Amino acid sequence: MSTLFVTHPACEHHQTGRGHPERPQRLTAVHRAVESAGLLDHVTPIEAPEVDRDLLETIHAKPYISTIENLARGGGGWLDADTAVSVGSPAAAVRAAGGAQRAAEAVCGAQSRRAFVAVRPPGHHALPDRGMGFCLFNNAAVAAAAARRAGRERVMIVDWDVHHGNGTQAIFWRDPSVLFVSMHQEYWYPGTGEVEEVGEGPGEGTTVNIPLPAGTGDGGYMDVFTEIVLPLFSAFRPDAVVVSAGYDAHESDPLGGMVLTAAGFGRLALVLDDAAQKTGTPLVAVLEGGYDLPALGASVVATLDALTGRVLPAEALPADAPPETSAMAIRGRLRAVRRVALTHWRI
Ligand code: ZN
Repeated sequence: MSTLFVTHPACEHHQTGRGHPERPQRLTAVHRAVESAGLLDHVTPIEAPEVDRDLLETIHAKPYISTIENLARGGGGWLDADTAVSVGSPAAAVRAAGGAQRAAEAVCGAQSRRAFVAVRPPGHHALPDRGMGFCLFNNAAVAAAAARRAGRERVMIVDWDVHHGNGTQAIFWRDPSVLFVSMHQEYWYPGTGEVEEVGEGPGEGTTVNIPLPAGTGDGGYMDVFTEIVLPLFSAFRPDAVVVSAGYDAHESDPLGGMVLTAAGFGRLALVLDDAAQKTGTPLVAVLEGGYDLPALGASVVATLDALTGRVLPAEALPADAPPETSAMAIRGRLRAVRRVALTHWRI
């Protein structure tokens, strides 16, 4: 079964204004990189449909959805200092969320087991009743909700964007059926994502935050996966995985202070995909951030190399990873995260 590559041209019609890092050219760069890497022979392209309104309304409040439509109808405006709504934004946002929905339904059905959703605007900062941080609709949350609607009981969301996925966290804060695991740069936008934020009520323990020091790179992120993400995968036993695949932890990214390489992202995708493959768990990766165009293109290619099986784990060791922050600093953070997670999980 071929890996699906889900996208839509309308996603390039969400305009954010001159000089904004979250720009239409990001998707152009992704498409060019995927094509020139020869990946189009290895994926099944799918055009994103519009999201089901009733599914979207399980994630976002109706008045908020109307706010976006009304702003666009009036010629555009801003939800906050960073988050633009243009005339073309509603069409882009419903295709972005619809692509996530379609991918989740496809991998939970018979069509495929893997999908990459190349869409914008991104989604993981979008709260139930408010967009922020370049995000309008929470696409990863829509994918998780679609998987749940398709009968999957436990969905694990792995968010490796450099920023904390505060919107996704808020949406599933009290929901024990969705395990949200975010690794992000500490003391960074949007300021949430402390180790102690673990969810509440029935959802206590199904939010796991892994704040990391600036300068964390390929080695540190791999430690996060082997010491926390993969053990949580084994403990939670998800029957669907959604990756909030942001690439702004890349060493070249202007909005992050991490030093991951494209090959490093590829390795993260490989080890997660490997765990999912071994348990027959479907996986959907949804594009979030990533603002250096060449780095974004190369990192998406590395991810797709992993998800299509073009590159095997043994071949993916980064040859020239840049120096990163001290392993001791990272290990200290991981110990703190494990200490909190151990109260909820046998990991
Ligand atoms: Zn980000």
